[in-house]
Amino acid sequence: MATGRLTIDLSALLSNWRSLDAMTACETGAVVKANAYGLGSGRVAAALAGMGVAKFFVATVEEGRRVRESVGPEKDIHVFSGHMQGDTEAILQLNLIPMLNSVDQLTRHFEALPGHPFGIQLDTGMNRLGMEWAEWAAVASIAMQQRPRLIMSHLACADEPDHPMNEYQLGVFRKMTDGVGVPRSLSATGGILLGKDYHFDLTRPGIGMYGGMPFEQAKPVVHLDLPVIQVRDLTEGEVVGYGNSWQAKRASRIATVSGGYADGIIRSISNRAKFWHGSTPVPLVGRVSMDLITVDITDLEETPDYLSLLCPTQTVDDLAEIGGTIGYEILTSLGGRYQRRFIAS
Ligand SMILES: *Cc1c(COP(=O)(O)O)cnc(C)c1O
Repeated sequence: MATGRLTIDLSALLSNWRSLDAMTACETGAVVKANAYGLGSGRVAAALAGMGVAKFFVATVEEGRRVRESVGPEKDIHVFSGHMQGDTEAILQLNLIPMLNSVDQLTRHFEALPGHPFGIQLDTGMNRLGMEWAEWAAVASIAMQQRPRLIMSHLACADEPDHPMNEYQLGVFRKMTDGVGVPRSLSATGGILLGKDYHFDLTRPGIGMYGGMPFEQAKPVVHLDLPVIQVRDLTEGEVVGYGNSWQAKRASRIATVSGGYADGIIRSISNRAKFWHGSTPVPLVGRVSMDLITVDITDLEETPDYLSLLCPTQTVDDLAEIGGTIGYEILTSLGGRYQRRFIAS
């Protein structure tokens, strides 16, 4: 079966990174976890490294492997999940920096890999990952003797600039780390936009580079085109797809395109989203199925070879809103069956 074309504009991605970098006076890293938010971490990390990005972040050691292969031996690769049981060998071989998040991890790391670089993750109120105040107080002096490369925490509400949680977490982070004499990092994309109090020594943007909110000025990075496999004419009253959820109110022309929820095109956009033929919208009709989607192209003058689901007129955030989710989920769901094409515009 023909597969969709996922076009990734690396120039736009690099330009978004530079724009985020220009908003701060500190160093800017790059988060390339989850296969660089679905786009392909090998190519994305290589392009960023080529532009001079020196610090990368991934979620797991296995993700670190792919990034290490593409950025070479010199770059710092930090692992958010820290040093988990079974990770020791890979951390050593790939020279990864685990962001230790508990006393258990700290102990494991110092016993298994004494002298190997590490960072520290602190919890400042999100209650997801990192050492809390009391834990940190108990081990801070031992940890600091081993010179962590980075101390970080993560903001829970940074995409809402007026949320009181931002200032609260900033205050906690300061109290936990002021005077430590080690580079500090608090902000992802949202935190960068909160202003310089939140920047510290290093920022860790992900979504903004990939063209998503809350970075409003982001250039779109992703273009998704699905091939038309079959076209048919319906008479008024005929129905389309599983559950007969759409019925033709007039004589209609229906295009069936290759792609479905197995490719990360979430089912909740059924009967709601639009596809685009250039600048002309055409409605998605019926339910999204596993590998196929049906589109009403009655109003098009020609039969297209491809229809676009993600394009400058329908961004990942537009589609997310239609489907009741966030741009992050649309991106990271982009399936493995697409043919990924990287372009420099
Ligand atoms: C995913 C993640 C980031 C990047 O967040 P964006 O909102 O995509 O910029 C930064 N830090 C941590 C700890 C993360 O989990």
